[in-house]
Amino acid sequence: MNEKELWEQVKTYLSADESVAADVYNYYVVDASINMVDNDNCLIVVGSDFAQQIFTDALDPKIRKIIKNLTNINYNTKYITKEQVVDEPLIKQKKFDEFAGDDEKRKEYTFENFVKGESNKQAYQAALAVTLEPSRKWNPLFIYGDSGLGKTHLLHAIKNKVNDIYGEKYQVKYLNSEAFGKMTISVISNHKHEQIEAFKDSFNEYDVLLIDDIQLLAKRNKTNEVFFHILNSFIENDKQIVITSDKYPEELRGFEQRIISRFNYGLSISLDFPDFDTALKILKQKIQSKNVKNNFSNEVLEFIALNFNSDVRKLEGAINRLLFYSILENKPDEEINIKHIDKIFKDIPIQTSEKITIKKIKQIVSDEYKISIKVLTGKSRIAEVVLARQLTMYLSRMLIDESYSKIGLEFGGKDHTTVINAIKKIENAMNENKEFKKYVNTLKKNITGK
Ligand code: ADP
Ligand code: MG
Repeated sequence: MNEKELWEQVKTYLSADESVAADVYNYYVVDASINMVDNDNCLIVVGSDFAQQIFTDALDPKIRKIIKNLTNINYNTKYITKEQVVDEPLIKQKKFDEFAGDDEKRKEYTFENFVKGESNKQAYQAALAVTLEPSRKWNPLFIYGDSGLGKTHLLHAIKNKVNDIYGEKYQVKYLNSEAFGKMTISVISNHKHEQIEAFKDSFNEYDVLLIDDIQLLAKRNKTNEVFFHILNSFIENDKQIVITSDKYPEELRGFEQRIISRFNYGLSISLDFPDFDTALKILKQKIQSKNVKNNFSNEVLEFIALNFNSDVRKLEGAINRLLFYSILENKPDEEINIKHIDKIFKDIPIQTSEKITIKKIKQIVSDEYKISIKVLTGKSRIAEVVLARQLTMYLSRMLIDESYSKIGLEFGGKDHTTVINAIKKIENAMNENKEFKKYVNTLKKNITGK
């Protein structure tokens, strides 16, 4: 979690807190932003002198408590106005990510606590395979997917496991692309050839290099140059390199073609947003790891799995919100059930009313393919229709976890093996064809509205 995300969470909690008047929230909290965080201090910039007074006198105890809940660290909080920002020497700039606490957390990113499911099992398996035999399998391994789907988690899992298995034998380096970019630029700006060479050579001591969020290096030509050199040298020396990105290689604009080709030289694999089953498993695991009593009714968990599965962070955020609610209401022992949901998530637009059903999926697919639902669910063997039918089955399984036989029934009584085969066909096609996969994912988003 970086400082911005931390602050967003704080705001979310404040908005859910009924003891914070809506006007106070709208006039003062909305405007406030986080300036920086270091080991002990958290600096928050507010809109006016009056806002400063409100934060210091009224909101501060709540904010500290929220931050403590989220980070497990007791920060000093300080509220300043925009005018005071420049002459605030107290706190030096430091990335939240670099905190000792956060490093600890990264030790917690393991393969064991990475919940596996349809959406991520390939990425998981590939990451595990390169861990067990670095540089023997796929080099580079390129993992791509939207934010919050576990890319950083997998990279640290690789690092932790290689350390566990091989100890000193393999040196592993995790690098955030932003940090790498900054390091490179500071070296390049010295204009000293030897220094640039020394910088490149400094990577020789590593056997496994993990580069996170490579998209952040796009359009930085000179940085690209250095990176390309390092990438090549790793591959040529049979040393493992693992790269993550929020886009797949061909979509990465701002990189030279030869770099993209290098990415493609290995294996690229996607992380998708969790399907219903996986989301539910993740929720249960997160609750367990927080060491709190699972006071949430199944219905509540299913509701969260359906509505917040576009990002694992959102799943976690939703749980935090539930926990926070029970703390606020001082009812830690009471079950939280579906009746509480509206209140807890009142400020978040949620499609409670329009539940995803097979009917809705059929409607959307038949609109998309411009065929009637009757044709879609009938016996036509026209290729387009067959594809639309298989897609509908696939989406019904992925989005609402309908049983194979129930899906079969919805298609004029097809038996469950037909449904399983249809789903497999779509999965294979998605694996083989990235464009198709993208298309299916867009369709999913149209249906879920996320
Ligand atoms: P990304 O780097 O893709 O943006 P992260 O790896 O930072 O995502 O994941 C965001 C959060 O979600 C982390 O706390 C991570 O541990 C958690 N997470 C993501 N995927 C899973 C999973 N499959 N099982 C358990 N936790 C997960
Ligand atoms: Mg990440």
